[in-house]
Amino acid sequence: MSDDVNFEEEKFVSKANLMVKKIFNAITMMQVEHVQHFMDPSLYQKVCEKLERYQKKKERVVFEQVNISSYVLKHSTKQSYLEVEASVMVRAIVYCLSTVSNQVVSGDAFSRREFPTKMVFRKRLDSSSVDVPRCLGCGTTIDVYGDGICPNCGRVYDLANYDYIIQEMDW
Ligand SMILES: [Zn+2]
Repeated sequence: MSDDVNFEEEKFVSKANLMVKKIFNAITMMQVEHVQHFMDPSLYQKVCEKLERYQKKKERVVFEQVNISSYVLKHSTKQSYLEVEASVMVRAIVYCLSTVSNQVVSGDAFSRREFPTKMVFRKRLDSSSVDVPRCLGCGTTIDVYGDGICPNCGRVYDLANYDYIIQEMDW
């Protein structure tokens, strides 16, 4: 059981689905800054480093038709945050493209494969809930699950102040 009194599994799963799909899409587009707010800074750093390694090899990773299923959630409460460990099955077409020739260099561009993934989500105990998310810089309303960057002032939305973000994720 969750210690998060407001925890609703269905809502959590649909948000998690959105976040993960957005992250895979951002990796594919090489625009991970737009999903930075979904990730703990240490995870974001790891993702950026991994993408840089691909860039150095003149390759990019492509995820298509991403689908996530069979969420098994394990809740725990730590000193300053609530944690949800999610075991999921990701189905996707995954391959690497050469950025020079645009040819597939590894993976399978034609069929989906399944890979089990573990993700850890955390929400700070001192987080607060908001009805209308706004940019802390200029007050513009933010579409948190659209883009984490304020369209007006460019500030990254700090989702960790309000909700679960991803602490760990394999890909
Ligand atoms: Zn702003």
